[in-house]
Amino acid sequence: MNPIRKIVIVGGGTSGWMAAAMLSHHLKPDVCRIELVESADIGTIGIGESTVPPFVGLIHRLGIDERDFMQATQATYKLGIKFVDWRQRNERYFHPFGAIGKRIGAHDFYQCWLRARQAGNTSSLQDFSPCSVMAESGRFFLPGEAQNTPIGGAGYAFHVDATLLARYLRRYSESRGVTRVEGTVGSAARRDNGFIEAVELEDGRRIEGDFFIDCTGFRALLIDKTLASPFEDWSKYLPCDRAVAVKTSSVMPIPPYTRATARRAGWSWRIPLQNRVGEGYVYASAFCSDQDARSTLLRGLEGPILEEPRLIPFVTGRRRETWRFNCLALGLAAGFVEPLESTAIHLIARGMDFFLRYFPDRDCDAALVREYNRRIGADYEEVRDFIALHYCATAREDTPFWRWCRNMPLPDSLQERIELFQGHGALREGVDELFRNASWQSVFEGMGIRPRKHCPRVDNLDMESITATLEMARQAIRGMVGNLPTHDEFLRGQSRTELIGRPLM
Ligand SMILES: Cc1cc2nc3c(=O)[nH]c(=O)nc-3n(C[C@H](O)[C@H](O)[C@H](O)COP(=O)(O)OP(=O)(O)OC[C@H]3O[C@@H](n4cnc5c(N)ncnc54)[C@H](O)[C@@H]3O)c2cc1C
Repeated sequence: MNPIRKIVIVGGGTSGWMAAAMLSHHLKPDVCRIELVESADIGTIGIGESTVPPFVGLIHRLGIDERDFMQATQATYKLGIKFVDWRQRNERYFHPFGAIGKRIGAHDFYQCWLRARQAGNTSSLQDFSPCSVMAESGRFFLPGEAQNTPIGGAGYAFHVDATLLARYLRRYSESRGVTRVEGTVGSAARRDNGFIEAVELEDGRRIEGDFFIDCTGFRALLIDKTLASPFEDWSKYLPCDRAVAVKTSSVMPIPPYTRATARRAGWSWRIPLQNRVGEGYVYASAFCSDQDARSTLLRGLEGPILEEPRLIPFVTGRRRETWRFNCLALGLAAGFVEPLESTAIHLIARGMDFFLRYFPDRDCDAALVREYNRRIGADYEEVRDFIALHYCATAREDTPFWRWCRNMPLPDSLQERIELFQGHGALREGVDELFRNASWQSVFEGMGIRPRKHCPRVDNLDMESITATLEMARQAIRGMVGNLPTHDEFLRGQSRTELIGRPLM
């Protein structure tokens, strides 16, 4: 055995401190030391505030108290994303977390609903999503505390303040023995076999390690500048390459969802926190100047701005090898698939999950490294395809940007998924994917892609019982959601206590 005794993390943004937190949760400081270097001069990107449900699982796995975490990061609950004007102007749809409907007998819910629609039923798919119905009425309840009720299948994530998140994870990590060094890394020294031996700070200090984690954001100091891992550019599938972001004052009530509104050359986000709102416009510079983007963002704001808007250029794509030699890249250093479905923080956690699963010794067995790169690469591609679907399925023709999207090239994997779905509504299911059937079905439906036929197996169910079951389910969700606290009430914590002991149905 040739065990790793010291891991050096370079970068103290969300990815650096997430890596530190996850490592310090799993490794004892007397077995493997963890040191994090961050540069106060460079700072962090300071955005990335909308998460997906596995993030809640991570917080729990780290043994963090959810309410304490929410208070410290000014977090709110997120039930999904409301998409405005994506298929056509003045149309909207919701991509919810959690389940949509329950199986009817041995039959898939979506197929039953599809058959009912084809027979003239007018219910909408989202009538059967507890998250969609809660979001529409601005209500919230923890699904874990309402199991075996009509909203038991819901899921949730958080909106968090990015700066407070990094601060929280820093406290968590330092209390578990992680040491922090402030300084700017100028270069890295390598051994004859290509492995990194040490990082060298601009002030002359040198930090040696057995393994290095590059969390330096878009600078990608180790994985790119030192190890030259090639970058796979995905801008031909995802044309947005810039964002302008701003913080604004809160507008009440606080919605329990992220809003993504399609604009002339991209889309704008609205992420509500307890104490403020994060807003931004993600756009394609080939179709929109920075000045126009700034004006579009400012025109669409609801509350007064709290600071000057910031411009953030980015390239969509990923490093072909995010693990090379004894260096792993996480976060923006590893790649970035634009923020439409709030997946970047999730990919950081996945990167760490896989690293812990394939944890190496100092030799970094090449087969382990290959498997890691294959597995994390599949996650990035899944996210890329899912996001590209939101653009390519548009029916908008009102601006050059949307006309381009209608004719954009598609990755083969996405083209195959669309063709498969358009037949009988079948979905390609991978192992352990982030976006499950309910997500693909919601976006397909929201973007106007519906299968030509239902699966013929559903014809074995009689139509009357399908219709009656759908109606009962619809009413049960609606009835229960009507009695739930509003999101604001839930955040204040009042209704939770009031509801204890009160039957939820
Ligand atoms: C427009 C936009 C919107 C986004 N929205 C979301 C979202 O809603 N949800 C989501 O999950 N993700 C989102 N993201 C992604 C998210 O912001 C990042 O994944 C996350 O913040 C992690 O960033 P990071 O830690 O990799 O990089 P950074 O925050 O840039 O941190 C880099 C760190 O490295 C340090 N550093 C750099 N160079 C050196 C050096 N030479 N020496 C020492 N230290 C150095 C810096 O000081 C800093 O501490 C968004 C990204 C963009 C661009």
